[in-house]
Formats: sequence, C-alpha cells, structure tokens
Amino acid sequence: MGRQDGKENFGKVELLRKSRELHTKRQALISQAKILKSEYKTLLEEFQPRIDNLQSIANNLAPEFKRLYKESQEVYSEGDGASAKILSIQGHAVQDKCEAVNAETNAMRAQLKNILNQIGNFHKKAEDLETQSGNYREEAEALRPTPVRGFNASKIINNEEIEEFLDEFPQKIFKEIESIRFSDNVSGNSFEMRLGISHKDRRTNKSVITMFRDLFREEKSKEKMIEEFKMTIAHEVGHTVFEKFMDDKSRWKWGEVYQASMLNKRFITAQAEYGRADDFCECFAMFKVKPKKLEKFDEARYDFIKKVYSTLEKTGEKNNEKD
Ligand SMILES: [Zn+2]
Repeated sequence: MGRQDGKENFGKVELLRKSRELHTKRQALISQAKILKSEYKTLLEEFQPRIDNLQSIANNLAPEFKRLYKESQEVYSEGDGASAKILSIQGHAVQDKCEAVNAETNAMRAQLKNILNQIGNFHKKAEDLETQSGNYREEAEALRPTPVRGFNASKIINNEEIEEFLDEFPQKIFKEIESIRFSDNVSGNSFEMRLGISHKDRRTNKSVITMFRDLFREEKSKEKMIEEFKMTIAHEVGHTVFEKFMDDKSRWKWGEVYQASMLNKRFITAQAEYGRADDFCECFAMFKVKPKKLEKFDEARYDFIKKVYSTLEKTGEKNNEKD
C-alpha cells in the first residue's frame, strides 16, 4: 500500500516523522496481536478438553442413534408399529442431543477462530503500516540523501533541527552535497577561526560540509549561536550553489558586483570580502537567515540571489542558472 497524499509537499523531517508514527502504530498492533495470542492460548487450554469431551460424547451418541434407528426399522418390519414408534422417539432424542453437543463444540471453535482471524487482521494491518512507513522513509531519503551527523554533540543545535533547516532549501542542491557533520573540534586553521568549511569529496566530487565547535560560545546567547550556525551552514551550502548550480556567466556577473564593492569595501559581512564566491555565500546565507537585512543592504544582490534561488526551486532537472 502506497501513500494516498502524494501531492502534498512534505520536507524530509516531516516524512521521517510520518514514517516513525506509522512504525509506532505498527508496534502497537503487534503488541495487541500478542495479547490476543495469549488470550487465544488461555481459551484454547480451557476449550480443548471440553471440545474433546463433547467429541467423545458425540462419538458415543452416533452408534447409539444408529442402533435405535436400526431396531426401530426391524420391529416395524416385524409389524410392531408401537415399539417402532417408541424406538424412533428415542432415536430422535439422541439425535437432538448429538446436535446440541455439536452446536456447543462449534460455538467454541467459532470463538477460537474469531480470535485467530483478529490476530491475522492485526498482522496484515501491521504489515501495511510497515510498508507505508517504509515508503515515507524511502521518500525522505530520495528527497535529501545527505546524511546529517554529530550535531547533538554541539549542544547548540541537534541533528533534527539541522534537518528542519535543510528542509527550507531547494532540495536539489543536496544532490551535490555528500554529507553535513559536526566535529567537536576547533577549525584546523588557526588563522581563521571558522565555524564551518566545505571540501570536495574526491571520489564523488560532491561537497562535504564540516561544522566546528564555537570557541566563543560562553560569550554568546543560544539564539545568537544558532543563528551563526545556520548562517555558516547556509554559507557552505552557498558554495555548492555557486560552483554547481550557476554558470560562468552568472558567476562573472556576481564578480562584477563584487569588484564594485571592493572600491569602497562595503560588504554584508567581513567574510564577504574574501572573494566573489564568499561574497555570494555570505549574501546567500543572509538571504536564508535574515533576508530583510540583505534586501536593505543591497537590493541588486538580494534580487540576484532571489533569482538564483527561484531557479533552484523549480523542479526541473536542469542545474544551471540561466540569465
Ligand atoms: Zn566560504
């Protein structure tokens, strides 16, 4: 059984949540089935001797009935109609008793069978739920295969909160991002204390984003640190956008914007000055985290990024941003 609501647009976190919900429901059904199974066992232990006993009564009644029937036939053929009638009445009484015994047996058997059917239904439903749960999980993985790891150790933001943040991006970007992880370390480069870096995985040619411990976390509020984390992740995601989803022409266009700002050294952040890519990434991050600030800072940059962004949001397979 597949999903009925394929048109709805869930993020990965929501899809995984649904998958877990269905899995939990499945577990509940399995436990209910287990309870029924033990009820069945108890009932069977109670019923089985009774059924056996009734069966042996029925087995004894059958020849008794046969005998009475036969005798009745015999005396009738001998002309003794009165005796035949008595024997026939006795025979019917035995037959009635036999039917009552069978009815009692059948009632107990039906009760047992009914429980077995319920158990079967629970198992079938549980199986369907597990399939649906698996479908949601597969859909989630297809939407964004990028693993997110280690953030629970950051004590700032956990893996699920990162996933929720990633859900807000156009998902096709993550086809080019190998993994995003938190390393409870300080950035390797002692000259710039960076919260995050991205490098290429040589095998897949995709970006690997690594986030680091914030050395100054004692001095900052939690909100501030979360914001910085998000800014940094969005910045690193921006590198992938700049390299993989923009063509030479748009990169060159951004370079012109960057060069113009070099004249007066006016940039959205200090890091934006490092180069045209970092300028783009800082603006991309600002667009994601504080769009109003970017819009206020430079409408041209804001519009540029907005355009790149909306191209990425289109579901088509074409990756390059066209002018
Ligand atoms: Zn950068």
